[in-house]
Amino acid sequence: MSPCKSWTPLADGLAIGCPECGAEAQFAFAAARRIARKADRPFFEASRDFEVKRVFWHGYYDIAVHYPGLARPLRDIGDLPEGYRKTGWRRAWRLGPEMPVDAGAAVCLSCGARRKHALHWPQDAFLTIEHKGHVLWAMDRPALAALIEYIEAEDRKAARRGPFQGFLMKIPSVFLTAGARAPVAAKLRKLMLRDAA
Ligand SMILES: [Zn+2]
Repeated sequence: MSPCKSWTPLADGLAIGCPECGAEAQFAFAAARRIARKADRPFFEASRDFEVKRVFWHGYYDIAVHYPGLARPLRDIGDLPEGYRKTGWRRAWRLGPEMPVDAGAAVCLSCGARRKHALHWPQDAFLTIEHKGHVLWAMDRPALAALIEYIEAEDRKAARRGPFQGFLMKIPSVFLTAGARAPVAAKLRKLMLRDAA
């Protein structure tokens, strides 16, 4: 299905198979921002909420990396040095080619796993069904609900309007034929009932 770039802006909290136990876990991308002043570096180095990395992109510079789920949420970190807005952190890879595109963290409520995880998509997807040898995935449960509504809709053009339009428009035709409607919808509904962690 769709490549990384087309779905990542939609999703944080992707539903993945837990790397430890296989149950449904949550994945979130790492966020990062440049450490603007040398004097600020000690704060980030001492903090348990950040990792400091030196990267090269048109020159060397330091970035602070935040892994959601492994650290306090950014909005709760009240003592950030001045000038570091609590918003405005970016996906880590946008700060230079040395940060991998797939860097993030996995959190599993079933087994308690909480660790860094390099995302492999769609192999890591938890919410998947198979139909005639093709795999259909949803990035999270709201997307799965939208997918069910779309597959079952009489007027699919109208049904795909909304936040998941970009995702729904990329569904391969094998899942959208008249013959596929009932079996695909049934598999998706069964998947929806599968226990969330
Ligand atoms: Zn687990």
